[in-house]
Amino acid sequence: MKLNIIGGGPAGLYFAILMKKANPDHSITIYERNGPDDTFGWGVVFSGKTLANLRDADEASHTEITRNFEAWDNVDVVHRGEKISIHGNSFSGIARIRLLNILQQRCRDLNITVNFQTEASDTQKLADDCDLLIGADGVNSTVRQTFADHFQTSLDVRTNKYIWYGSNQLFHGLTLTFRQTPAGVFAAHSYKFNEATSTFIVECDDQTWNTAKFANMPDEETRVYLGAVFARDLNGHSLLSNNSKWINFVLVKNARWFHNNVVLLGDALHTAHFSIGSGTKLAMEDSIALKQCFDDTHYVEAALQRFEAVRKPVIEDYQAAAYESMVWFENARDYMHLPPIELAYVLMTRSGKVDREKLRQRDPAFIAIYEAALGL
Ligand SMILES: Cc1cc2nc3c(=O)[nH]c(=O)nc-3n(C[C@H](O)[C@H](O)[C@H](O)COP(=O)(O)OP(=O)(O)OC[C@H]3O[C@@H](n4cnc5c(N)ncnc54)[C@H](O)[C@@H]3O)c2cc1C
Repeated sequence: MKLNIIGGGPAGLYFAILMKKANPDHSITIYERNGPDDTFGWGVVFSGKTLANLRDADEASHTEITRNFEAWDNVDVVHRGEKISIHGNSFSGIARIRLLNILQQRCRDLNITVNFQTEASDTQKLADDCDLLIGADGVNSTVRQTFADHFQTSLDVRTNKYIWYGSNQLFHGLTLTFRQTPAGVFAAHSYKFNEATSTFIVECDDQTWNTAKFANMPDEETRVYLGAVFARDLNGHSLLSNNSKWINFVLVKNARWFHNNVVLLGDALHTAHFSIGSGTKLAMEDSIALKQCFDDTHYVEAALQRFEAVRKPVIEDYQAAAYESMVWFENARDYMHLPPIELAYVLMTRSGKVDREKLRQRDPAFIAIYEAALGL
């Protein structure tokens, strides 16, 4: 089979690896507009369950990924300067660039052609030229836009603003920090992903963002401002920029996932708010699911139909939980009156996926303190 893949992010690279492993006769070409070492962002997070999926799908890359991991089991909630730790959660972090380099190397080992610094602009031509065209070209996907009528895309631009920074302050756990300021409430999502660096995402509502006058504030001034908001948490470290910009989260959904021999994967297909995990996990698990559909049939249309039938309910379930979490952060100011232990509990149960009994299994001490605080 001849495959063209637009986008050399986690979805495109991983799908190429899995297909080539399944059948070395496949001819696979990836088109990536950036160079191998150009990237945005900082670290990505995987749960223990995702890691098991990656191990089953491709042990070689799993070994390399876990060799470069930082693992932890705690979620820390910081409110009014008090830190509450909730244990029993399994997460790991890796630098996005390190993950991409591992997957790129695996592609080289498997003789997959990756054309870096190559913009793919004529989607129809690339589709006509192969058996299967993968649109793994990220949240602003050209492939999706080319066939927008067919995919029936919905784009929901949310009101909160967020910005993706790094820091040399090490957060040993998934840390959610809230700071109330005269401008409004700021939330930080942070975790370490290598020995020297943490991801540090700052989120606020548009009222706070406007009051703080971020619209025309230069990058350095913004980092100084937010560095002051989180001064006690950053412990003297500054915020690091990597072409960081304020963004509104865009919730992407598609009613239909494929059109003839063209299918979307990863962020091009769907997004889920970063507060519930990483888009990278979903992108790579999409690749696993699509590859499995080709295990059962060589007919492209049958495989794509099966992919949509099997994977769509999983994604809809995930997006529903992520939606609850996103809305919680959009309304974070309404929860700031809660004492830290109650805020921590409300946060841990916000997506509706985890209830008190599940939390009790994970961390009985946390639930005991919570119940004592409420007199239960
Ligand atoms: C600013 C920003 C920072 C982020 N930082 C992080 C982070 O630190 N950690 C994290 O977990 N997630 C981060 N994310 C989210 C994360 O990028 C995605 O959820 C995840 O990478 C999805 O993988 P993907 O392969 O579907 O898409 P992407 O990783 O977006 O990959 C798509 C690729 O397609 C390429 N491409 C697009 N169009 C074309 C074209 N026409 N021709 C050729 N190539 C093309 C792009 O250059 C890109 O490499 C960030 C997102 C944004 C917007």
